[in-house]
Amino acid sequence: MKKISIVVPVYNEDAVLPLFTSELDKVLKRINDYQFEVVFVNDGSTDGTYDLLLGIQKGYPNLHIVIVSLTKNYGDEVALHEGLHASTGKAVIVMDCDLQDPPALIPEMISKWEEGYEAVNARYVKRKKDGIFSRLGNKMYYKTINRITKGHQIPLNVGNFRLLDRDCVDYILAHPAGIYRVEAAHSTNHIAEIDYVRDERKRGKDHYNTRGMFKIGIESFISVSSSPFQWMFPYAVGFTIVAITALVAEVTLFILIVLYVIMNSALIWVILIISIALDVILIVGAGVLTGLCTATHNIYLDLNKEIAYKEEEIVSNILRGEKAS
Ligand code: UDP
Ligand code: MG
Repeated sequence: MKKISIVVPVYNEDAVLPLFTSELDKVLKRINDYQFEVVFVNDGSTDGTYDLLLGIQKGYPNLHIVIVSLTKNYGDEVALHEGLHASTGKAVIVMDCDLQDPPALIPEMISKWEEGYEAVNARYVKRKKDGIFSRLGNKMYYKTINRITKGHQIPLNVGNFRLLDRDCVDYILAHPAGIYRVEAAHSTNHIAEIDYVRDERKRGKDHYNTRGMFKIGIESFISVSSSPFQWMFPYAVGFTIVAITALVAEVTLFILIVLYVIMNSALIWVILIISIALDVILIVGAGVLTGLCTATHNIYLDLNKEIAYKEEEIVSNILRGEKAS
């Protein structure tokens, strides 16, 4: 019997975990021809998630639950990587545990895989509550990253939720510095898509805010750029242009003051005020750009630290259910 793994990153999810597990169990019970393994990656939760997982492992022996515990909260990118690492199925389905990724889609994903597709992406056709900025940001992210990466396109509106053949999983694991959704898109050409409506999470709180999304955006760009200078370059050019313009404004200001002293006319006053305002705007702009460069660079350093991690330092233990072997 073929084995299929379900990999689920979990961070402080005690509110929704019981509901998720029972929904998943209901769906998997109706699929007879496969053996399943559910790999929960506890991403350094500080609530009751870990104890709940231990209870769930005992309560659902048919799910062959594996619990991978991380030493601290690393974020779902690292959690996913560790989950894929611990999985043993011929195919792996990655999904969130807040029921935004409906388990009901699993049978269709599997039948697409059996048709010969190596990856099956669940693509959301509509997000009920997304605001205009979120949608716009999302679009810009994918447009830009697809322009940078040549070859495989990163699909719009596809998150963690996908089925990946073992070959794709091996590809992703061979690129530990990569971003999951970028590497998954690069791992094969045989991709099917299933559309679904993405609801809000059923219980608990979302973990990603704007800062988190900015971080993952930057990380994606870094991960597809061959050198850090490649992505620092536009910032550096922008900064230089601002600095040179500020210099020109300063010189103009100096000349105007001289003219004022010589001519003392009202027009000179107007020009002087406009010039000062322009100068202030440029200096603020230069400050913002410098901040952006520094933030980007810090994220790059962070990411490099994460790339250099050793698995033993990240995973504290892996508990496989008795019947999970
Ligand atoms: N998650 C994680 N580590 C984190 C944050 C989130 O493992 O640091 C998990 C979380 O438990 C969930 C999935 O990643 O299963 C997606 O998180 P969330 O639903 O908060 O993200 P969103 O749906 O807002 O993108
Ligand atoms: Mg969610």
